[in-house]
Amino acid sequence: MAKYVYLFKEGNASMRELLGGKGANLAEMTNIGLPVPQGFTVSTEACTRYYEDNQKIGDDILEQINTALAETEKICGKKFGDLENPFLVSVRSGARASMPGMMDTILNLGLNDVAVQGLANQTGNVRFAYDSYRRFIQMFSDVVMEIKKSYFEGALDEVKKAKGAKFDTDLTADDLKEVVSKFKAIYLREKGEEFPQEPKVQLLEAIKAVFRSWDNPRAIYYRRMNDIPGNWGTAVNVQSMVFGNMGDDSGTGVAFTRNPSTGEKKLYGEFLMNAQGEDVVAGIRTPQPISALEATQPTVYNEFVKIAQTLENHYHDMQDMEFTIEHGKLFMLQTRNGKRTAGAALKIAVDLVDEGALTPEQAVLKVEPKQLDTLLHPNFDPSALKKASPIAKGLPASPGAATGKMYFTADDAANAGRAGIAVVLVREETTPEDIEGMDLSKGILTARGGMTSHAAVVARGMGRPAVVGCGELHINETTKTLTVGDKVFHEGDAISIDGATGNVYGEMLPTVEAAVSGDFARLMDWADKVRTLKVRTNADTPRDTKQAVAFGAEGIGLCRTEHMFFEADRIAAVREMILADTVEQREVALAKILPMQQGDFEEMYKALEGRPMTIRYLDPPLHEFLPQKNMTEEIAALATQLNTTSEKIIEKIDALHEFNPMMGHRGCRLAVTYPEIARMQTRAVIQAALKVKKECGYDIVPEIMIPLVCEIKELAFVKKLVVETAEKVFAEQGTKLEYHIGTMIEIPRAAVTADEIAKEAEFFSFGTNDLTQMTFGFSRDDAGKFLGSYYEAKIFESDPFAKLDQDGVGKLVKMAAKLGRETRPEIKLGICGEHGGDPSTIEFCHNVGLNYVSCSPFRVPIARLAAAHAAIKAKKN
Ligand code: PEP
Ligand code: MG
Repeated sequence: MAKYVYLFKEGNASMRELLGGKGANLAEMTNIGLPVPQGFTVSTEACTRYYEDNQKIGDDILEQINTALAETEKICGKKFGDLENPFLVSVRSGARASMPGMMDTILNLGLNDVAVQGLANQTGNVRFAYDSYRRFIQMFSDVVMEIKKSYFEGALDEVKKAKGAKFDTDLTADDLKEVVSKFKAIYLREKGEEFPQEPKVQLLEAIKAVFRSWDNPRAIYYRRMNDIPGNWGTAVNVQSMVFGNMGDDSGTGVAFTRNPSTGEKKLYGEFLMNAQGEDVVAGIRTPQPISALEATQPTVYNEFVKIAQTLENHYHDMQDMEFTIEHGKLFMLQTRNGKRTAGAALKIAVDLVDEGALTPEQAVLKVEPKQLDTLLHPNFDPSALKKASPIAKGLPASPGAATGKMYFTADDAANAGRAGIAVVLVREETTPEDIEGMDLSKGILTARGGMTSHAAVVARGMGRPAVVGCGELHINETTKTLTVGDKVFHEGDAISIDGATGNVYGEMLPTVEAAVSGDFARLMDWADKVRTLKVRTNADTPRDTKQAVAFGAEGIGLCRTEHMFFEADRIAAVREMILADTVEQREVALAKILPMQQGDFEEMYKALEGRPMTIRYLDPPLHEFLPQKNMTEEIAALATQLNTTSEKIIEKIDALHEFNPMMGHRGCRLAVTYPEIARMQTRAVIQAALKVKKECGYDIVPEIMIPLVCEIKELAFVKKLVVETAEKVFAEQGTKLEYHIGTMIEIPRAAVTADEIAKEAEFFSFGTNDLTQMTFGFSRDDAGKFLGSYYEAKIFESDPFAKLDQDGVGKLVKMAAKLGRETRPEIKLGICGEHGGDPSTIEFCHNVGLNYVSCSPFRVPIARLAAAHAAIKAKKN
């Protein structure tokens, strides 16, 4: 028979998947002889069975629970519902990965009308017994039976008022008896039945409630944020109660072996005498620092310090512990690797290596890649953040804190930014033309768009905090107002956004600069030594390039050349090219663009100091470069400038209009219809490379990347243009250089025919933004609008545009990599979609054997660390 229930003495730390983190650690502490109140763990497999069996606990599991219960009663020498020595338990969740505060807990279970007297007899403290009983009734009713907490709080207040009691502690034993009968009456009124007196019934209901809490909305949300799969389930720990509220020689507290906020090596924590854990959390009484325990309970304190050290040595990591003192005796209720800030994580990891407790590789695994984000951007002052309440919540598209005055157009934002005002750009959604306004803003907030929307991608690239797709916002760009609920904000009003949480605040919040200490560099150095996957960056300006190189980028994996077309001083020439009627006219306009584009590439090659760069040819549909039809003034100005009429321009705008521009005339299709664009770009790349090579001596090997290819002949067509032009330049200059031509794999057909495509392509870069869009058939700019319902309905656990869908899109990537290598064994493979900066995707890329990932500059350190994690994990398996 399968085993679903384990006594603490039957488990150990390696059984985390089965017993959950808490259960495995309780077992481990039991094994190493620490004072742990005994009990048993109902496994995570029992939780998954519970869901498979239509939310029922199977008879076999029930039987095992009863056996374990009987065994635990024996170990503890107590009995459920006993008048002499009643057995009381706590029932707590405990998943494989820690999910603090997300699921349910029930304390004092086992109390009923008899056991409460037993507890009073045993302790000689009637008041304590009834206080515990009323707490249990309330907790059970709220957590297990979903009866409103406020009913109980109201009843308690009534009794307090009637008795003239200010605090709960002013109530006498008799008062509390009255509270208990009132609570039981509420239960009867709400449930139509008496409060359950049979402890086994209480226990079973409580276990089911903990299983159910695995699927409460906040747990689901937490899992999505932290990449925790929904099918893991939670274990349930049933543990004999010890009481911290038995008088002045009892107490309860929490402590960390090191400071979780700074990493300092010093016991850090707090405790409260004569209290239960919930009193510490409720914040009614102020706990004392752990060091104060030394004066009042020196023996307990010394024992605790010793245990804390034993646990840290045992786990080779900073521990977060819960303890209770019952009549001067110390009990350990929990230990786990403590959550910590990014700065503390780095310090602790590096210190543990210096102390000889960890090897550098083990230390690398102790720091979560995603956590580094907070070290790279300014953040809100945590105390100010605690006091503030958000007015709305959107998608956390680009981390960091931004605070300033709101502006509703990119031009207004740019003007204010130039005038030294801290600006938050608030837009319905951004367009490529907003780039300057975005750049001059401290942060970007949009009402529409998903994690790969223009605003999100560009903001991440710039390292600018951004919250996108915040549907609660009503933005009126004409009246320059932002409405949320019944609040209306105007241009210049204060606003703050938190790009790490998606929270939006209608006020200025103070920020603090993030400090990057020497520990950061040491840890990254260890990470670099072990990783095999290279890390490049997506950048198209020298400034972003320098930033990325400073963060350790080993080259550029994606230079999107269209961004270079939007600059104010060249958009005119680009528009002239688009509006041209003949090839000759177009070539005249392109000749104006050529020196600018060449200049850009020269700057980029210089910023890279010899590192490689993959230059992607023009990708977006041309209409993006023209004004919108309703921008009458701009159209008139353009007409004058180009010596034509507004009508002609509107005609062209109409002609370029597409119903599905994302699947329209873009990518290499532009080069097929306008070969002269590809020719101009080739000339710019080759001439820039030759020039910088000569001037600076860098060994430059241009990598030219043709986007959105779906058919080998398409690639061959564009490749021919590139080769012919390059040869022409070589002939003109009397010198040559090596260069490579490759393609993006971003259309399913390209992935499926990758063996064919590799005949022409010297490298592949997986454009997983488009590949995800086209594999799912979800518009990358609009999916955010309905993905929320997909999470709720449990169709999806995460955003496929942020975390690669390994089963579907990933299968295409794997297949294309394999097919590509069959044709061209030395083919270079990389990824440059937004997924390139996501740790779980990076692990996938490592395992598929890609050569590099490419991500926005501010994610480069994250990618380096994630690549190291992937390499270490792969070695272990
Ligand atoms: C992609 O599609 O993944 C990609 C990198 O290209 P873009 O985002 O520019 O379409
Ligand atoms: Mg693309």
